[in-house]
Amino acid sequence: MPELPEVETVVRGLRKIIPGRVFEAVKTNAPAASIVISPSFKRKTLNSVIKGRKVLSIDRRGKNILINLAGDVTLWVHLKMTGKFLYVDRTQPKHKHDLVFFDFTPHTKDDNGLHLRFNDYRRFGRLRVFPNDELWQQPGLANLGPEPLDLTANDFVELCKRRARMIKPALLDQNFIAGLGNIYADESLYVSKIHPRRLTDTLSRRKLTELHGHIQRLLRASIEHMGTTVVSHAGVDGRSGSFQNFLKVYGSEDQPCDHCGGNIIREKIGSRSAHYCPRCQRLR
Ligand SMILES: [Zn+2]
Repeated sequence: MPELPEVETVVRGLRKIIPGRVFEAVKTNAPAASIVISPSFKRKTLNSVIKGRKVLSIDRRGKNILINLAGDVTLWVHLKMTGKFLYVDRTQPKHKHDLVFFDFTPHTKDDNGLHLRFNDYRRFGRLRVFPNDELWQQPGLANLGPEPLDLTANDFVELCKRRARMIKPALLDQNFIAGLGNIYADESLYVSKIHPRRLTDTLSRRKLTELHGHIQRLLRASIEHMGTTVVSHAGVDGRSGSFQNFLKVYGSEDQPCDHCGGNIIREKIGSRSAHYCPRCQRLR
């Protein structure tokens, strides 16, 4: 699933292309569940709500993409497992997993317009449109935790000390901290030598500060590499990320640990699998 660096890569790609552009037509063959329109719009299709609206700016909040449109409306996109935006020529043949087709108005007579597709082979991605005054009350946005790259070490320590919970599920909880998933949670716990079952309030301030530093470092490094491509992540230009080449534990079960040579294991913790080195990351 795309996590903060992958979503940030998509957002940066979109920012290069669509701000200032006006939606001309939106066609979709996505399943009904993929598209959610606020009941307060009298119009019921994605096309009828966003056609004619200009793209003002694009923000990211956690793993959410927020495309701000003229008229105080936001197109809110969550890529979930395999969603991606692709900027392609409009004559390119339709791929069976291309679900939504966005045409933008040409700027000039010679301009062929701009064409963007939303492709999603697992079909869990969601495109939603809401008036801005309803947006932040929606489940999925209303209770999001802080952005890990904006969070100070002190605030992170306070967050962890507030109540006892296992560190790995806490890092995955979007209402605890927004944007991390299995990859960056496993990697940051590994380099910090913290067992994924360790209770947050039993970790020292020093250890939590170290973890905070590694989380920020890994996220920034991954953004530099356009994210991690394990299954299907790609930028708007179709290019894969390359941070998978720098991962130490995620997806490395039964392979030797860089530090101690022991075996990396994969174990279910909470409802998700965790990758870690039982020798380096001890549960004291
Ligand atoms: Zn080890």
